[in-house]
Amino acid sequence: MRTLPFFLTMEGCPRRCVYCHQGEITGISRAPSPAEVRRAAAEQREPCEVCFFGGSFTCLPSALQREYLDAALAAPPGSILRFSTHPECITEEALKLLAPYPVSMIELGISSLDDRVLARCRRGYSSRPALEAMRRVLNSGFLLGAQMMIGLPEQTEESSLADLDLIAELKALPPPTLRIYPCLVLEGTSLARSWREGKYAPLSVEHAARWAGRLLLRAEALGFPVQRIGLQETESLAKSVLAGPHHPALGELARSAALALRLSEEAPEGPWRIDREKISWLRGHGKFGLRLLQEITGLSAADAEKRVRYE
Ligand code: SF4
Repeated sequence: MRTLPFFLTMEGCPRRCVYCHQGEITGISRAPSPAEVRRAAAEQREPCEVCFFGGSFTCLPSALQREYLDAALAAPPGSILRFSTHPECITEEALKLLAPYPVSMIELGISSLDDRVLARCRRGYSSRPALEAMRRVLNSGFLLGAQMMIGLPEQTEESSLADLDLIAELKALPPPTLRIYPCLVLEGTSLARSWREGKYAPLSVEHAARWAGRLLLRAEALGFPVQRIGLQETESLAKSVLAGPHHPALGELARSAALALRLSEEAPEGPWRIDREKISWLRGHGKFGLRLLQEITGLSAADAEKRVRYE
């Protein structure tokens, strides 16, 4: 189903997270009015998924939420709604307000479930209320999306793997869908200041791909679908990234890393049999996957390559 996205550019956000500047990411500095949403929705010829991203939807005043939701209903019958929001604004009342609308998924900006990371990023809450918010969404019968991040200040690979275990303890059926975003240093953020002062070191592209690859493997093992790795590329994002793992194919690199990690775990010295259609996962992007396999196993490049059989 086609999506009809609207960006609410930090509307409703209880505070500004240290790494965030939605205006710089999307190039959109003003949220559309409900009337604009209604017009665009009414122009659709087929049912679509109307999405409100880039802000904290359920933190908006209830009357404004209703105006946006009603405006979205101008889309053809069968259309559905999705939005992202802040865990602090998932109350019983907020969920009651949403109940009559065809909400396909509520995406929570989780970032991390490590209290030190949450405090350093000025998220304004700790892991426990975030998990409670997730549970509340699930108990209300909505599908849950969790937006996780990697490379945040104070965050480690181990802590983000532990985040997945905490989410798994919710025992949600169906399980939450994950999106994994890298922490980038954007102009105009408090993180940019820390970076300039040498107090924050962003991940390299390679490190981010490996980290995301590990998360992907763990997510798959726990049964979580991963809908996206990496940010949607925009001209504005490209212009405003000062530092960090900004790469348009970060998702592909992460998939290559996950494959290399899996192969090395299954058979530390090979041989490795993989589908012919996955050749690019190892050989694409300057043989990134193969180089990683070689590095993990300690084999020479030639030996690692010889031990892969494409079937
Ligand atoms: S990260 Fe999310 S909650 Fe934080 S300021 Fe940005 S849009 Fe708002």
